[in-house]
Amino acid sequence: AMSDLRKLAAEELRSRRDELRVQHEEFRKRGLKLDMTRGKPAPAQLDLARGLLDSLDADHIKSQDGTDVRNYGGLDGISEMKRLFSEILGVPTAQIVVGGNSSLQMMHDTVVRALMHGVPDGDAPWLRTQPKFICPAPGYDRHFSICQHLGIDMLVVDQHQDGPDVDSIERLVAADPSIKGLWCVPKYSNPTGVTCSVEVVERLASMKSAAPDFRLFWDNAYAVHDLYESGDELSDILSACERAGHPNRAVVFASTSKMSFAGAGVAAMASSLANVADAKKHLSFQTIGPDKLNQLRHARFFGTGDGLRAHMRKLAEVIRPKFDIVTRILDRELGGKEIAQWTKPRGGYFVSLDTLDGCASAVVRMADQAGVKLTPAGATFPYGKDPRDRNIRIAPTFPPLEQVKLAMQVLAVCVELASVERLLQ
Ligand code: PMP
Repeated sequence: AMSDLRKLAAEELRSRRDELRVQHEEFRKRGLKLDMTRGKPAPAQLDLARGLLDSLDADHIKSQDGTDVRNYGGLDGISEMKRLFSEILGVPTAQIVVGGNSSLQMMHDTVVRALMHGVPDGDAPWLRTQPKFICPAPGYDRHFSICQHLGIDMLVVDQHQDGPDVDSIERLVAADPSIKGLWCVPKYSNPTGVTCSVEVVERLASMKSAAPDFRLFWDNAYAVHDLYESGDELSDILSACERAGHPNRAVVFASTSKMSFAGAGVAAMASSLANVADAKKHLSFQTIGPDKLNQLRHARFFGTGDGLRAHMRKLAEVIRPKFDIVTRILDRELGGKEIAQWTKPRGGYFVSLDTLDGCASAVVRMADQAGVKLTPAGATFPYGKDPRDRNIRIAPTFPPLEQVKLAMQVLAVCVELASVERLLQ
């Protein structure tokens, strides 16, 4: 068992530092080029969906309702793809809009529409006053980038073990009518792997909001992305909102980016009938319709919700060993030293590591010197600023297993070296 580094005498710390510097230098000399930055599927995962490219034949290009998917039309998507998302999300098909290849684009456009035109329950475009969003952190950097890009102020709250800090959220949302939105990745969150508890879902659905047009941006990107046989259960936000008398509060997003092809999947949003009607009204100015051919290809390839779940189990077999090696190396190299904490996610795409305060950027810099690219420190916080400079997002899915292993050995050395140097300051 390792001992608590924080209890070592300065002399012992210095000798440990010298050992670690030698190890770091040895990695550096190897000229490694490892990339652990973005949560992309590995080529082996994409290969498992190659059947997508053969799932259509030129003689059968009509969707179930008789639509020729090669032609214009069908603003909200084909019926079989709505049914598939309906099964994944547990939402009636009438409340689903199936779109193009990116849920992030749907989120961005939903925010822009609200800024420009307002939403049901509101009496003015959000741009009329300075809007604010609540951003649980660590969180998904691209959510924060949308706010920054569109001039929305961000209020940071903590991300806890059972979801975002709902005590703080309730207080903020009840008091300030300029708070219009909250970002939430409710299942296997990016990057902490947390699934919102039943209680958190209920409280977000039922809390009082000073803004009548307050919205939950419910990014269910990892709805069916279990790593192990029994997955986390997420309760249904749309029906919780409806029961609580806020039927239009939540807008749910999802996509097949990490089921089929990350650049050529199918995205969807789900909400109340009023929100869906409102979104469709605006969408009709933006496009004559989405790529229904890709939708049909996906519907034929996955078949039913069960077919899709079976595919997800195959994908999990590819990436599970990578997650296991990440936690195994962290446990072995850093366990008991009391200099870092890390998540052991049961799904999703990330492991989140917290160093001692003030060490994350040093760790990322040292890893870079040793040939391991990590997501920049601070990226998981609004404005790229982690107030405690401690969070590092690890994305193990893309590199081959051997590279993940090596990158983690480098990372462990860097975490310990940065910690020892910090403790010696
Ligand atoms: N939401 C979250 C939480 C994600 O992690 C990602 C991918 N990294 C996305 C959305 C992007 O989804 P899409 O490919 O559908 O735009």
